[in-house]
Amino acid sequence: MLSKPTNRSKNDRDNLAKKRLTCSFLVLLFGATGAVDWTSKPESEIARGDQFERRVAITVDDLPGAIPARPTANGELRELERYNEAIPAILKAHRAPATGFVNEKKLHVAGERDARVALLQKWIDAGFELGNHTYAHVNFNQVSVAEMEDDTIRGEVVTRSLLMAAGKPERYFRYPYLATGPTQERKETFEAFLKSRGYRNAPVTVDNADYMFNDVLHEALAQKDAKLAEQTKREYLQFVQTEFAYFEEAAKKLFGREIPQVFLMHDNQINSETLDELLGLLQKRGYQFVSLDEALADSAYATPDRFVGTAGISWIERWRVFFGQKADYERDPDPPEWVMKRFREIRGAAANQ
Ligand SMILES: [Zn+2]
Repeated sequence: MLSKPTNRSKNDRDNLAKKRLTCSFLVLLFGATGAVDWTSKPESEIARGDQFERRVAITVDDLPGAIPARPTANGELRELERYNEAIPAILKAHRAPATGFVNEKKLHVAGERDARVALLQKWIDAGFELGNHTYAHVNFNQVSVAEMEDDTIRGEVVTRSLLMAAGKPERYFRYPYLATGPTQERKETFEAFLKSRGYRNAPVTVDNADYMFNDVLHEALAQKDAKLAEQTKREYLQFVQTEFAYFEEAAKKLFGREIPQVFLMHDNQINSETLDELLGLLQKRGYQFVSLDEALADSAYATPDRFVGTAGISWIERWRVFFGQKADYERDPDPPEWVMKRFREIRGAAANQ
């Protein structure tokens, strides 16, 4: 049961734990070769400098894939292979640097370990960064600090060795459900642990309810309802734009300017089918894709997160607390009511199976 049936992901996350382009030719060229050097921009782009005011870093959670209805389940290998063929290739075609956050539990399926690890290797080979999202996607609202620490250490074994072989460190951590700890003491203790282990928290500013649309899309496809599937994808793309508009304005209100945004999406079916269009829409909105490093280098990200609570919310909402305001996340845009309703029905049925 969800405590707030009319509200969405911030609370649903907690409960459900139990719930831009210079030349398309260049894109095609780079897209057809090996790893892309994201730091080298065409000269025309450098010369234009500040014209690219809007920047966004793309982050992709739940690698090697979040399956519909049961996103923390290991999933079918074939299904995961589809997501991980499509999503890194689309990101690369748009020259969008990305950071993927891994739940290593999903690698450990008898007879499929090598094939599942190979899915992560695709991301590294494409030049993307990987980070830790805990081993089993544990919810900090429901486990102790010790369990969070254990699950973090357990969740870095394979990813760290893959990155090391590529000459890269594992640097970022993403909180499952964006749950940063229900009390100040637990929050601060785990933050100190992350720091001691060399991790930096990967904040999210543009939250996303792609997992809701994903469940609905999956069901529509299972029922061979092509019209509903198309409607779900269309409304998902509209929702992402509504979210961006909201958090662009929210950043302006808080900092007096737009900031580089960090977008959260999942390694799932709906993104494997819509990401090309989604990134195109962001480019039309004036966004240039930047690395997480570049986004976090903006001074806004030095703002302390003083929010304490169980809600998994945007860092823009959290930063309000530091500025003496309320983390007024109830005003965040929600997906269409019909999507939220159907989502709850699907998850409710899955929980009862
Ligand atoms: Zn996650």
